[in-house]
Amino acid sequence: MENIYIIGIGLIGGSLAIDIKKNNPGVVIHGISRKEATLKEALSLHLIDKKATLEDIVNADLVIVSIPVDATVKLLPTVLDRIPDSGLVVDAGSTKLDICKVIENHPKRRNFLAMHPIAGTEHSGPSAAISGLFKGKTNIVCEVEKTAFKLQEKALKLFVDIGMRIRYMNPEAHDKHIAYMSHLSHISSFMLGKTVIEKEKNERDIFDMAGSGFASTVRLAKSSPEMWTPIFKQNKANVIETLEEYIHNLKNFKELMEKDDFEAIYNEMKNTNYIKQILNGIA
Ligand code: NAP
Repeated sequence: MENIYIIGIGLIGGSLAIDIKKNNPGVVIHGISRKEATLKEALSLHLIDKKATLEDIVNADLVIVSIPVDATVKLLPTVLDRIPDSGLVVDAGSTKLDICKVIENHPKRRNFLAMHPIAGTEHSGPSAAISGLFKGKTNIVCEVEKTAFKLQEKALKLFVDIGMRIRYMNPEAHDKHIAYMSHLSHISSFMLGKTVIEKEKNERDIFDMAGSGFASTVRLAKSSPEMWTPIFKQNKANVIETLEEYIHNLKNFKELMEKDDFEAIYNEMKNTNYIKQILNGIA
């Protein structure tokens, strides 16, 4: 792969650019973005070697689409129209069903690989790009059988070389599981942030008391609404299901408090400590 085009040089696109370039110094990374200022920033940060436009994709060996998921659904058919027969398009979107659906009957479906690198931070834009973001993280690949074998092989090597393990899943299962593991965590963090901000209007001292527990729990509330609104829209049914279960647990906790059933509260927390073993297993 000599010519790699990245559409959207933010946190994910920029971090992929850094790691891919490090492992493959010979490749030329071409950046495509909506805003000229973003391209300039990506150039000055040395995330990309050259600026490019969608027309240039006819020369691509690989195109990585790393823009919000609603924009991905809109743009992907055009990108596939322009990819040469020997080229591959991958996306990094946090939802998979709508993205896989929009190109399911595209004549170049075999030139597309759907993936979701499960790695990130709460920051966005080119300045958020960091080296090593994907090391030891999972890359979920969907409908791999629909991608030409030679192209799959090339792409998967690229991602394994930057430290990722590959996990295969169908888009429906991906969207259902990710609603629990990622989307609900973001909503929970946003609403914790909102609750505290509203309270702070009356009690300015509250932030003096905010320790590291609050900071780490509310970290995801700094994430970009431009990226997250389309994710919640595309994964609405799964996200609502997770919210129902979460709200049920919150209500139950409140009822136990009201009933002074602190033994049950202790047990709730004791049982939930099991999350430590699960996360140690993941690490
Ligand atoms: P980001 O840092 O905000 O970068 C996205 C880039 O997309 C921006 O630089 C922006 O460039 C461009 N963009 C924004 N809105 C657009 C639109 N409507 N049309 C075309 N371009 C647009 O976002 P990111 O975190 O890298 O996320 C990129 C993709 O990766 C998303 O699909 C997201 O779901 C997925 N993802 C994110 C994470 C995470 O933790 N953040 C993890 C895994 C996957 P301009 O400034 O030129 O508009």
